[in-house]
Amino acid sequence: MKTIGLIGGMSWESTVTYYQLLNRMARERLGGLHSAEILMWSFDFAAIEALQAAGDWASATSRMTDVAQRLERGGADCLLICTNTMHKMADDVSAAVDIPLLHIADVTASAIKKNGAKKPLLFATRYTMEQDFYTQRLRDHGVDVVIPVEEDRTTVHDIIYQELCQGIVQETSKQKYIDIVGGMTTDRADSLIFGCTEVGLLISSDDFSIPCFDTTTLHAQAAIDFAIT
Ligand code: GLU
Repeated sequence: MKTIGLIGGMSWESTVTYYQLLNRMARERLGGLHSAEILMWSFDFAAIEALQAAGDWASATSRMTDVAQRLERGGADCLLICTNTMHKMADDVSAAVDIPLLHIADVTASAIKKNGAKKPLLFATRYTMEQDFYTQRLRDHGVDVVIPVEEDRTTVHDIIYQELCQGIVQETSKQKYIDIVGGMTTDRADSLIFGCTEVGLLISSDDFSIPCFDTTTLHAQAAIDFAIT
């Protein structure tokens, strides 16, 4: 089994999910007492969020590349950045190491295409929805991603940072997410991307009649496919 390197802690609420999923998937694959071999770095998210809010992406990138190299030196065979947003510096992280980086947008695009969905709505942080590092990557794969309107982007973003990343899961916020999807016409979006690794803490595919793509689960599955062949 290969060792999965996790760049986590962004936030740790979703890194917990990664840890559980990877271990459960390894047990499903191999049975018995098997679990995943994982090497993890967990950031203090307050420091990372401050860099994001200040737009200091250069400092954030150097923190990320430093940690990627530590994980490689520690014996990781691949890397996962356990957040969609911090894939903004995926190319720099990938260039800083010799092990493969499993890109969350690539595995998401491949699941969407396999499903046959054409126009997925993206629920993510403002950075992921509004900058092009993520949406363009999906478009490069032929996925015609749909971004919520400004008011809805604010709602989705604020719930992520003010609630989900702080371990707060509220029924009222879940309803807001459901209402945003309900307000979409079917010709605008035909599916939904949980494009933030905490979104699955609030909503699940059971809440919607359209196909849902949870990036955390898809990313973990790709890592297990890599680690256990
Ligand atoms: N985990 C989130 C994501 O997938 C948001 C936190 C962050 O900014 O990294 O984008």
